[in-house]
Amino acid sequence: MWNILLAEGHIINIGHDVFKENRKLADKNREKLKKEGVFSVNIMGAIGSGKTTLIEEAIKALGSKYKVAVIAGDVIADMDAARFLKLGVLTIPANTGKECHLDAHIVSDLLKKNDLNSYDVLFIENVGNLICPTDFDLGEDMKIVVVSVSEGDDIVLKHPVIFKTSDLAVINKIDIAEAVDVNPDTMVRDVKSLNPKIPVLLTSKRREETVKEWVTAIENAMLEKKAGKR
Ligand code: MG
Ligand code: ZN
Repeated sequence: MWNILLAEGHIINIGHDVFKENRKLADKNREKLKKEGVFSVNIMGAIGSGKTTLIEEAIKALGSKYKVAVIAGDVIADMDAARFLKLGVLTIPANTGKECHLDAHIVSDLLKKNDLNSYDVLFIENVGNLICPTDFDLGEDMKIVVVSVSEGDDIVLKHPVIFKTSDLAVINKIDIAEAVDVNPDTMVRDVKSLNPKIPVLLTSKRREETVKEWVTAIENAMLEKKAGKR
């Protein structure tokens, strides 16, 4: 409820200027990151969908080959930040306070305070919610939406915009699908009905081959970008 009220608040109280301003700043962030050679990934999803865990797995796999930084923007950023710090990567906590999303302004400030010139990848863990992060471009190269089977198999159709605007969809925690009486294939079908072109991954940290697919999807996107194909 809180998130929805805030989301409506943006529209009613602030109007279109805020979106226009955000887009301008996002373009600046995009330019800056491009110049610095940083591939940036915005990871969106509800609290408990497993965003932090997936980022941890990506750091573990990519950290030996690439220089990785993370912006921890989830509401409980300090807890997530501690998990990233443990992996020895540059960890930048985003102070969102009560905000229910990150915006280009927050990212711009963090990019001013932290020199990412020598970095290859920047993961941005967005605040845990599936609604308003879709309104705020951060200047990232890749948008990923993560949902867990534990959110129920109607979660996808209830949040069409985020699936229509993301570059990759992840259905996570598939190892517990049966226990929560959800068919992951239904969720995949729903995602494809909203966005036929989007790649969809089924993942679980307990199934190594799915973790590999997750990491490969990010690495391939990064290599394509660097080769100028994206
Ligand atoms: Mg998290
Ligand atoms: Zn919000």
